[in-house]
Formats: sequence, structure tokens, C-alpha cells
Amino acid sequence: MPEPELLFVPLGGAGEIGLNLNLYRLDDQWLMVDLGLSFADETLPGVEIVLPDPSFIAARRESLCGLILTHAHEDHFGALPYLWERLRCPIYCTRFTAAVLRRKLEETAIRGAVLNVVTPGERFMVGPFDCSLLQVTHSIPESHALALRTPLGNVLHTGDWKLDPAPLVGPLTATDDLEAFGREGVLAMVADSTNILNPGTSGSEAEVRDSLQALIGGLPNRVVLTTFASNIARLETAIRVAEAVGRQPAAVGRSMHRMIEAAREVGYLEGLPPLLDERVASELPRSKVLWLATGCQGEPRAALSRIAAGQHPSVRLEPGDTVIFSSKIIPGNERILYNLHNSLVSRGIEVITEHDHFVHVSGHPCRDEVEQMYHWIRPQIAIPVHGEARHLHEHLAFARRLCVPQVLEVKNGDLVRLAPGPAMVIDEVPTGRLVLENQELIAAEDELFRARRRLMNHGTILVGLVLDEYGAVLASPRLSTVGAVDLEREPGLLDAVLAEIEDAIEELDDDAVLDDERIRHAARTAVRRALRLVRDKRPIIEVQITRLGREALEGLLGEAEPVR
Ligand SMILES: [Zn+2]
Ligand SMILES: [Zn+2]
Repeated sequence: MPEPELLFVPLGGAGEIGLNLNLYRLDDQWLMVDLGLSFADETLPGVEIVLPDPSFIAARRESLCGLILTHAHEDHFGALPYLWERLRCPIYCTRFTAAVLRRKLEETAIRGAVLNVVTPGERFMVGPFDCSLLQVTHSIPESHALALRTPLGNVLHTGDWKLDPAPLVGPLTATDDLEAFGREGVLAMVADSTNILNPGTSGSEAEVRDSLQALIGGLPNRVVLTTFASNIARLETAIRVAEAVGRQPAAVGRSMHRMIEAAREVGYLEGLPPLLDERVASELPRSKVLWLATGCQGEPRAALSRIAAGQHPSVRLEPGDTVIFSSKIIPGNERILYNLHNSLVSRGIEVITEHDHFVHVSGHPCRDEVEQMYHWIRPQIAIPVHGEARHLHEHLAFARRLCVPQVLEVKNGDLVRLAPGPAMVIDEVPTGRLVLENQELIAAEDELFRARRRLMNHGTILVGLVLDEYGAVLASPRLSTVGAVDLEREPGLLDAVLAEIEDAIEELDDDAVLDDERIRHAARTAVRRALRLVRDKRPIIEVQITRLGREALEGLLGEAEPVR
């Protein structure tokens, strides 16, 4: 019998904020914690969503005993519908997450997923893992830290959390449970690093409510407030504020309605005035409505982008109206958001963001809160996750300063042995990112995206050659370009390039003209030389060779002689 081991593998989330996918192994059984997605940035042109590559665990599916979802944010459960077929394991989460997930699974026509709804604080077994979800506050109701009890030591997987003294919707952080778990003795804490660069505390939803009320109360015309649809407390704030300042609340955007429905199903947002139908709201005077809209990250198809473009059926903005971004800018979305701000401002619409006014608090712990958590849990080992390299690095230094006996730097794919013995990375497993391209999942490292980036930056040049089977040039080459060079920039340029290509091929020796690859190389070199392309200018030069055999040639040319 091999010695029992407790292992941990981050397949996503150790090196980026999105794409969380964590694995634990005990007694040859794997437990998955979270399965998130993120939205593609400009390095993946034409792509919307990015998922963690689950191949490693998919190949071990028979020993995957379950998936625990800490909360219903896209970066923690959004990949599930796309990867479900490859995993098919029991799912564990609390009521609100289940309510949101059920809607998602219905929309994507996924059947047969077993959702086990667990109560926070209750102990439940998943394979050999003795688990409990401990309530933490965050920017969505029902976020949890996962407490794992094993014979080799206990682990606290913090998930996304903060210490909000007044979260407004959902319970407070279960500080007693966390402290009690710490007293049991915790081997390792795998912990959120998002805000580790920020000193102090992250603030409270209640403070945002007061601030928004004062702000919106003083605005004269139409007001659109955009935030993450999953931030139920912020939605409740908007509805309450509307009521307090004499406006009617109305929501636009599918995910907003879906989230409100899920929240109401499990008992949140009770006793609030109903949202006005958007068509009815659009008939009211502009100072009498508070619009809630999706699209706070500038998502092109979300309600706010359509409103800004003047394409929304119910919400039309005019000079003097205001758009409040009650959200942060997720790194990578700056360009698209600033463009959206600019297009609004240039039409006389006021834009208010967290830089102008107190309209947002983060859902992640700042340094004082992280310190408090270490004080409660007192782990033997600190393993920072949920952060880019600079966050993980700072978190390690912070844990060292708090005198955590061992800190461990991990990256996606590291196979970590937590016990027995000192924690260490003992191997690496395959990891990577997948993207959804034309309904199919393919690797983000695929040549397709390298080519697309090159096309975007440098354009393309197409060369068409017609040769006979012995390499003789039968017709003048053809050349066209998209986005690479301006062939009209000087008279005779195109002819000069074509002549250079023809010369280059005619100079090739008898062996070379039989080899398409060598002909392509010669043509590419000739194009670069003739166009005087500098070294950094790297358009894709595609050379298409058509070879005509003797018979075809005779049919086409009759008595005519080949050029060569
Ligand atoms: Zn997260
Ligand atoms: Zn989250």
C-alpha cells in the first residue's frame, strides 16, 4: 500500500483572476472546487470566452467524486455548461448558486446534472472528503469558504470573500465557524489574493447605498445605473434608492432578469417594490425612472452598449442624462470601457465611475481583512491563488510577514503534496486554456489565434503563381493584399513586385523549381525585398501555386509555348 497523500493542483486561477479550477486528491479520489471561465482579451481576437483545459481531470473522471461550487460568479462556475459532458460528476452548492445554475443548465439544454444543495455550516461527505461550506461575504449572496477535514490535515479553501459588516443581502461572514475551524488546526489555507495590493479594508455595501442615494437624489434627468447582475445587494440598493428619491426602478438586460428571478426564488429581494416593465418605464418622464442595466464591463451585446449606441428599444439617452458605473473595471477591459465612456460623454451624457464618486466597493479582502483571516485560521501553509503573478507574489510576502510557517508559490498545473512531509511541488500536470470558437472548444494556443493576431497587426499579402510541372512560369504572377501595404503608394510598384517574384523563380535551379516549398520561400523573399518591408513588419505572405500538367496545358494553350 502506498503511503496516503493529500494533494492539491490548481488547474486555473494561479496566475490569473478568472478561470478558477482547483483539485484536491485523497485516497485516489479527486475533488474539484470551482470551474470558472473568463472573457477573452485582445490577445485572442474574435474570441469571447476562455475556459480552463480540464483534460487532466477529465482523463481521471472515474475517480472524480464531486465538484463543489463556492459561489455563482462566472469565474467560479461559468465553465460548467461547456465542460459538463467531459466531467459528469455530482455537483455541490448552496441554494442561490443552485438557482442560478439551474437556469444556466436549462438555457444550454444540459440534462442529467445532479445538483446537491447543501446548507452552509453543515458537514457533508464527498468521497473521502469531509466538507463544509462556511459563509463569507462577497459581491454576490452565498459565497463560501470550503473547510476540508482529512486524516492528513485540514484545508481552508477561502474562495472569494471579504469581511463586510453590512452586506445588506445574504448572511454575514461566519466568523465563529472560521475561528472554530482554525482552532481544530489547519494544515493549509488556499487563499484569495485579488486585493492583496490594497491596504486597509474593502468597505461595505451599506456605505455604497448611502452614497448612491445622496448622488442619485441630486440628479435631474434620466439615470442609468450599471453593475454586475449577480451583485444582488447592489440591485437591492438601486431599487431602494429609486423608491427613496421618487423614481421607479426598471431593469434591462437578460442576465439582470435571470439573476433577480433566482434571488427571489430563494427569498432574497423580498418586500421590495416590483420592477417596472421596460416599455411602461420608457413612457414615464425621464426624471421618474432609475434604469438598471447590464454591461458594466462594456460587453458589446449587453444592454448598456446598445443604449449608448442608440439601439435599445426602451432606453434612449439625451444630453443631461447620467450613467453611473457602479462597478470596477476588470483589468483588460479598460480600452472597451473608455471607448464607451467617451461615446457617452461626447453626446452630452454625464458618466460617473468609482473614480468620480463613491459608487462601488470591491468584493475581495484588502490587507487588513486578509490579516484577520490568517489570525483566525493560523494555517501551517499559505498557498495564494486567485491572482496574477504580482498578486500571488505580494500575498506570499504578506503571509511570511505574518509568520505563517510555510508559504508556497504555485502556478497552474503544479501538483502539490500538502501532506505527509513539508508541502512541495512534486510534479506538473498538463494545463492550459480552451476557447469557444464556432461552437467548438479548441486550445487558446492554437496556431489559429497566432495567425489572427498577425493578420490584425500586419495584414496579409496573397501571391498566385501558375507553373507547369517542371517549374516554368506560365503566366504573370498575381498579387493582392488586405491591410498589409498600399500598392498604390508609388506608380509602378505593383509591376515591380511582380517582376521581382518572376525573376526570383526563374533564378531557381532545376531541383528547386520542382519543390513548392522552395518556390514559396523565394516568392516571399522577393515580395519582402520589392516592398522594402522593414524587419518588424511581418504580414502573412501566402503563396498559392497552381501546377498545370502537360495535358491540361495543351488543352488550355493549344500550340503556345511556355514562357520558360
Ligand atoms: Zn473570483
Ligand atoms: Zn467571486
